[in-house]
Amino acid sequence: MHDFRYVGNKLFCEGVAVETLVKKFGTPLYVYSQRTLTDHFQKLDSALGALDHLVCFAMKSNSNLAVLRTIANLGGGFDIVSGGELQRVIAAGGDPRKCVFAGVGKTEAEIEFALLENIYCFNVESEPELQRINKVAARLKKIAPVAVRVNPNIEAHTHAKITTGTYENKFGIEFEKIEGIYARASKLKNLRLRGLQMHIGSQLTTVSPFEQAIRKVLPLVEKLKKRHALEFFSIGGGLGIVYQPVLASGSADWWQSAAAKNVLTPAKYAARLVPLLRPLGLKILLEPGRFISGNAGILVTRIEYVKRTGKKNFLIVDAAMNDLIRPAFYDAYHEIVPLTRKGGAPISSDVVGPICESGDYFCKDRPLPKLGEGDAIALLSAGAYGSVMGSNYNARPLPTEVLVNGKKFAAVRERQAVAKIWADEKIAPWQK
Ligand SMILES: *Cc1c(COP(=O)(O)O)cnc(C)c1O
Repeated sequence: MHDFRYVGNKLFCEGVAVETLVKKFGTPLYVYSQRTLTDHFQKLDSALGALDHLVCFAMKSNSNLAVLRTIANLGGGFDIVSGGELQRVIAAGGDPRKCVFAGVGKTEAEIEFALLENIYCFNVESEPELQRINKVAARLKKIAPVAVRVNPNIEAHTHAKITTGTYENKFGIEFEKIEGIYARASKLKNLRLRGLQMHIGSQLTTVSPFEQAIRKVLPLVEKLKKRHALEFFSIGGGLGIVYQPVLASGSADWWQSAAAKNVLTPAKYAARLVPLLRPLGLKILLEPGRFISGNAGILVTRIEYVKRTGKKNFLIVDAAMNDLIRPAFYDAYHEIVPLTRKGGAPISSDVVGPICESGDYFCKDRPLPKLGEGDAIALLSAGAYGSVMGSNYNARPLPTEVLVNGKKFAAVRERQAVAKIWADEKIAPWQK
């Protein structure tokens, strides 16, 4: 589901016209649907109902406090990748004991903080990291729960920048080395071998790579479970979403749309994976990011200028690659729709931002309705890896973020004051 649709000719998020939000908060503006976040979390959570499981939201996809609170209120845990993210979980009222800590470069300070907050598990990516966690735990007189991230060397068939499960990637430890590592780790006194983890990539749109990786790793998990009394197996995140046009196709109901026919649904995912995992008798962890947040957010922007050249129709908008970098970084596609639906013949258009980079575009040669100065448009499916990757490039303040719930809405991040961009900078003493 996603809860952005036209009511008459106006784009709505749940029960609120997006135009109302633009009038109140201006542009660029991120809008999140609480109902969509909830629906995605619950669909996945209930699809896994036959397993002892925990859904840990990969908060690097969207770490706004209100988004985190939504997940926490649903009983979800969090997949964190830094000490800062753990602080965010705490600030949002989430439970550190439901957090798993991933990432190849955990610092001593981060490990100490996470140990003191009693996180559920460290997902460890190298042998030196195991040694370091053991050392910090010894100093604090604690036992650190750890799982090693196994790299199953499975091609995920996704974009190169989001493939993580092959030996070309920096992530995890080679499949063949895992047993030896667990044997050595079991001798480190301040570690508890709690589980095994993997994550093969992001935006996977079929179940097959997941199934392949799980089938490959299952015998290993069974062995390790017996030898080291493991408690869980985390199969990572990576469930893909539909970015292709949905609203433009005229479908009122998301699940009825043409795009939805090929989508990886929680039901399809669970039907293939639950029967494989259930006989293990372990707790199963899931780390979905994009699946929960991706289609729960849009970026709204206003057209500043229409610039026609001999070759192109440029729509120059007030959002830019610093607000949403996915098209520039991942060649990502975002559906673009006007807040007020228009008829007439489409015009091939490039939607571009004001930043001085040729990479600062949202789409190229896309048939869009005839739009003019002052019209507002929405980039759909911008809830994951959108605002979290925002920067202040070109001294542009981070945009407002709004959460909608039914007919209610609230700013859950105020537009950054421009002076805050350089608030931590100084003139050097000898320059005075
Ligand atoms: C990024 C990441 C995820 C989430 O990926 P999605 O594609 O957003 O589901 C899960 N686990 C780990 C270890 C990650 O790095």
